[in-house]
Amino acid sequence: MIDLLAPDEPHPVRILRPDGGSDLLLAADHAGQLIPRALGTLGIDEAERGRHIAWDIGIAGVTEQLAELLDATAILQVYSRLVIDCNRTPTHPTSIPPISELTKIPGNTGLGDAERDARRRAIFDPYHAALAGLIDRRVASGRRIVLVAMHSFTPVFKAVARRVEVGVLFHHETPLSRIMLELLRAEGDLAVGANEPYEITDDSDYTVLVHGEARGLEHVEIEIRQDLIADSAGQAAWARRMARLLGEANERLRTL
Ligand SMILES: [Zn+2]
Repeated sequence: MIDLLAPDEPHPVRILRPDGGSDLLLAADHAGQLIPRALGTLGIDEAERGRHIAWDIGIAGVTEQLAELLDATAILQVYSRLVIDCNRTPTHPTSIPPISELTKIPGNTGLGDAERDARRRAIFDPYHAALAGLIDRRVASGRRIVLVAMHSFTPVFKAVARRVEVGVLFHHETPLSRIMLELLRAEGDLAVGANEPYEITDDSDYTVLVHGEARGLEHVEIEIRQDLIADSAGQAAWARRMARLLGEANERLRTL
């Protein structure tokens, strides 16, 4: 068995405020763009490695500040989703995508089972084990848990511009998804999408289905358009807004 990550390379998982007092637990599957040294550049140039195909631009900054503002625990995954997508079942064809949007990823073509397995063991498994562990500890201590999956999406996909600025994604509607849609729409200055720019399906998602729905936890997936959070001012503004709205949503949930 080969180890994909050398001992001096970053661990895939960052946990912020592990003892955070908030009910909310933030998870950002696509928060980084690192590629393990052993994989080189995956055969794509630097510009492609900085694009949305590699990671959720801006979401790490929003999630870090949101964790501070809410005193919430946050878990972030720091390797590029082109290495392995932590929001896909590892057996799904897009788990290690040979093509993403319109870009071919040479380093992801023709992989054998051992290579796929090495990526899973190095990144996917430790990330999801860490998230499951955070949830287990809270369940054991009888604490409420509200799982919030944090993502960002590209303003232009396959040459089509997206109007929606923030999306609330759900598989089956949850009380939290309903409340967040209501609160975001009440802001008055936002183009809000319900299950836009995409829907959650058993095929296309993993984190909220496995850690939220399957465990019977309140959960929601938030998608923010990347041009709004590309710089630090945008990230700070969205963190403040989401802290206010998620805090309010959690208060409403508690009194349901
Ligand atoms: Zn994402």
